Amino acid sequence: MRYQSTRGGVRGVSFVDSLLMGLASDGGLLVPESIPDVSSDLEGLRGLDFISLAKRVLPLFVDDIPEDTLNNLIDRAYARFDHPDVIGERVLDDVLIMELFHGPTLAFKDVALQLLGQLFSHVLSDRGERLKILGATSGDTGSAAIEAVRGQPNIEIYILYPNNKVSPLQERQMTTVPDENVHCVAVEGSFDDCQALMKTVFADAEFKAAHSLGAVNSVNWARVMAQIIYYGYASLRAPAPPAFVVPTGNFGNVFAAYLAWRMGFPINRLIVATNENDILARFFATGEYARGEVHFTLSPAMDIQVASNFERYLYYYFQGDTRRLCAFMDDFATHGRASLGSAPDDDVFTATAVDRLQTLGAIKAVYNKYGYVLDPHTAVGYAAAASVEVDSPVIVAATAHPAKFTEAVTSAIGDAAPGHPTLDALESLPERKTIIEADVSAVRDLLAG
Ligand SMILES: *Cc1c(COP(=O)(O)O)cnc(C)c1O
Repeated sequence: MRYQSTRGGVRGVSFVDSLLMGLASDGGLLVPESIPDVSSDLEGLRGLDFISLAKRVLPLFVDDIPEDTLNNLIDRAYARFDHPDVIGERVLDDVLIMELFHGPTLAFKDVALQLLGQLFSHVLSDRGERLKILGATSGDTGSAAIEAVRGQPNIEIYILYPNNKVSPLQERQMTTVPDENVHCVAVEGSFDDCQALMKTVFADAEFKAAHSLGAVNSVNWARVMAQIIYYGYASLRAPAPPAFVVPTGNFGNVFAAYLAWRMGFPINRLIVATNENDILARFFATGEYARGEVHFTLSPAMDIQVASNFERYLYYYFQGDTRRLCAFMDDFATHGRASLGSAPDDDVFTATAVDRLQTLGAIKAVYNKYGYVLDPHTAVGYAAAASVEVDSPVIVAATAHPAKFTEAVTSAIGDAAPGHPTLDALESLPERKTIIEADVSAVRDLLAG
């Protein structure tokens, strides 16, 4: 399998090169040159456990790592999950909750990042190279990336986050990791400052090459690829082709569901669930993609206005017409808005926005009826499922364990908000962080040092 950029300027990239490239060098995102078709093999895939399915499907996208090596990396990636099937399930009457939060940091990002960490480690030792990973986080991504690469001899990881502006729990998930290759960098500024610093450093091609900088954000193709597996897995276990409801921020997770559908897994519909940051819900209703003000909500991992992976969807919507795609993205970059002219002619997506009251209401209603606690992101999905009519089984992607978002859960159900031993254990551990001014030379110095 070869990879190409959504913007048409990069082609013929191997999987391993795509892994190290992250963002394509023409500013686009990498996508596979063709989408593998599993529709004639569904009976052979049905009944496989999650890891066995991963071992059958991932080689369709990865042909430059020997299969037994890849199998080993898959085994290692999922060894740290605390559920025997990696992915958990909970039935709440007509709705199945697909629990994606059984990894080391209790959020779905572990499913992809644990594999990404193994892939990086293998490729770097194979080539005798080293990598410095630079990332910015407002919450979940930082700890998931750190857990994925901690202790790896050929990787240093630097995570920028706004000092005093992430939750104390999320900060501890990063700063208590003792491994020498982990660098938590608290920036005196906002999350936007952190992202701007990261972009400035990456934009300096000379510095990037001199220090072998790599990225782990969701523009990395391998993250999307790893997420396809659980949609395929859950679709094959359902009694009929299901509708997936996916709480969405960067459009990464739901885009993986879209690819699973394109690959021929039995999927009926995809429901994009957003919080008050409803740019995607507005797009699917009107065809207009228009940036608004960022709202700070109970589901902070979805407080995003510009969904980086949305470009990959548009590429397929435009049937690979990279000129149309470039025109649309240029329009958006210049005016903060771009439009198809009318609602997209699309037969798989439905999108809906959910507000604060509906989110709290969903947490409360589910707890009262089933004694089960949703985290606020999953609650957005659950509330969205209730507001959309579907004539198929419904599966809601549960993206985090509720103990990660105690404040929101407590406002819904008070003292019934659950904890988690992994998080409790962090209380007593020493923390390590470097505080810097929001200044690009401070970041460069850290990386060079
Ligand atoms: C990152 C995250 C999301 C959003 O996922 P995208 O792939 O950006 O759409 C939703 N819920 C939680 C808990 C997350 O950490």
